[in-house]
Amino acid sequence: MSSPPDLPSHVQRIVDEIENEIGEEPGHPELLIEGNGTDGHDPSGRVEAAVRQILLEIGEDPDRQGLVGTPGRVHRMYTELTAGYHVDPERLINGAIFDVRYSEMVVVKDIPFYSLCEHHLLPFFGTAAVAYIPRGRVIGLSKIPRIVEMYGRRLQVQERLTQQVADFLQERLEPQGVGVVLEATHLCAVMRGVRKPGTIMTTSSVLGLFRTRDRTRAEFFAHLARHAPEA
Ligand SMILES: [Zn+2]
Repeated sequence: MSSPPDLPSHVQRIVDEIENEIGEEPGHPELLIEGNGTDGHDPSGRVEAAVRQILLEIGEDPDRQGLVGTPGRVHRMYTELTAGYHVDPERLINGAIFDVRYSEMVVVKDIPFYSLCEHHLLPFFGTAAVAYIPRGRVIGLSKIPRIVEMYGRRLQVQERLTQQVADFLQERLEPQGVGVVLEATHLCAVMRGVRKPGTIMTTSSVLGLFRTRDRTRAEFFAHLARHAPEA
């Protein structure tokens, strides 16, 4: 499976960035050269019309100077923020799974991520920590933040995003165990006053030894508690 050929270039560029290592040959170099493309992926302008309708409904004047370009910008922004739907997992992995005799815990933490809450279409964002214990196979470390981004650039709930990252590693590596912890601030909560500002939501998904063995889980959470030297 590969990306549909008709993605707008600004979306294709994001998909390429997630699928390819920096310096790797991008899948669609001609699109990179083309630049930002146009807002016209949806030639009918239905998204633009819908955003314009929202502006009218909230009592705004969509024709005033500051808002004239807003429907087009919003359309474009949402296609970028949901570019993860178009990422091909095979291209993302692209030969970066290696056979090794390493069976200690691998931990990648402080991975920044941004996603959109599917209930309000508002951002939630924070950091991810991903760990696994190999069973003869490891994945290139630089791929792990890209896996988070592939699932983050979609409409999400934090619980599912967490689970999808864990399941992906479980399926691809068949490791002895996987642990994923996400900590995030949800703008739909803090802006709407449901929770106090600064409230952080934590979700975790633990599979295999991370679920069944206390010692493994404790080691994982000890890694998370340990701050970076400069902190
Ligand atoms: Zn929400």
